[in-house]
Amino acid sequence: MSDAKTYTLQDCVKKIEDIRQTFASDIAQLGGQLQPRAVEDLKVKFLGRKGLVTELMEALKSMPKEDKPGAGKVINELRQGLEKELEALKIKAEEGALDQHLNQHRLDVSLPVQVRRGQGSLHPVTLMRRILLTEFRRLGFTVYDGPEVDLDFYNFSALNFKDDHPARDMQDTFFIADRAKTILRTHTSNIQIHAMLHEKPPLRIVAPGRTYRCDSDLTHTPMFHQIEGFVVDRGIDMGDMKGVIDRFLKAVFGEDLETRLRPSFFPFVEPGAEFDLQCVACRGKGCRICKQTGWLEIGGLGMIHPNVFEAVGYSSEEYTGFAFGFGIDRMAMLRYKLSDLRQLFEGQQDFLGQFPTYP
Ligand SMILES: [Zn+2]
Repeated sequence: MSDAKTYTLQDCVKKIEDIRQTFASDIAQLGGQLQPRAVEDLKVKFLGRKGLVTELMEALKSMPKEDKPGAGKVINELRQGLEKELEALKIKAEEGALDQHLNQHRLDVSLPVQVRRGQGSLHPVTLMRRILLTEFRRLGFTVYDGPEVDLDFYNFSALNFKDDHPARDMQDTFFIADRAKTILRTHTSNIQIHAMLHEKPPLRIVAPGRTYRCDSDLTHTPMFHQIEGFVVDRGIDMGDMKGVIDRFLKAVFGEDLETRLRPSFFPFVEPGAEFDLQCVACRGKGCRICKQTGWLEIGGLGMIHPNVFEAVGYSSEEYTGFAFGFGIDRMAMLRYKLSDLRQLFEGQQDFLGQFPTYP
């Protein structure tokens, strides 16, 4: 402002009038499209460090002394007035921007729902089966499959179950209607017979699968999963059996855990035993899970009975072998620390979704 030195009160009032007009015409130019950004620009133009009102304040210094109080008052009024108007404009602009956004992103409830589907996970029994099969493949086993609906011969007779064995009772076995000799397999041991009838020794086979028994309580479900394993060759003895069981249990549950065999009876093995693993929870010290014994019952095993070899046409003089079987569901419970077997089969996504996608 080159004429600053000659400013009088009249000049000042005139200048204020100019500023008001400029302000009004600036706002008129904005019209209905009031954007927060434009209001901010106006604020800078009028009240900013180099704004029109600030310039006028600077000019005040060069005015005649007697004009200063009057000029200061009107400039201040101008300033306060503009501040007030700009604040109101700012609010209006922000509301307008919000309305505009909502109009552009109008909610249309008739559109298809866009749900982000998470990656699925594997069932704990599937995970456990994969872990077990990985370890058995490392030990040189081949995976074999067999029928879930099978003849009595494969499930019982060929496995040395006598005709009056209690397992054949209606209370334990699901019989297929009208065909008393056709059943839902009660164990995966039927695969031993199928495999031995189709293959020649040496054999190293594991066979996982679903099995069925008329049983339902806290620790039993009518359908459950087993894994069967057997080895047949010349010169196989109980040391081989103990070695395989020991190796795979340690690989799955930890090298520090001990295993043990306890004498038991199953028709298709002689001698037969049950095998235990040191408790995975307390590492053998004794806890609620192992009922303070320090041991967990895992499954049954034994040297394959000569009668079984007879049934499939193998020479029991030439070959020996061992077989073992255990529950995959129970293994999964131990590994994933589950308290209720039935959780595995209730199909609750909240529960099943916690497990990993890969073993
Ligand atoms: Zn324990």
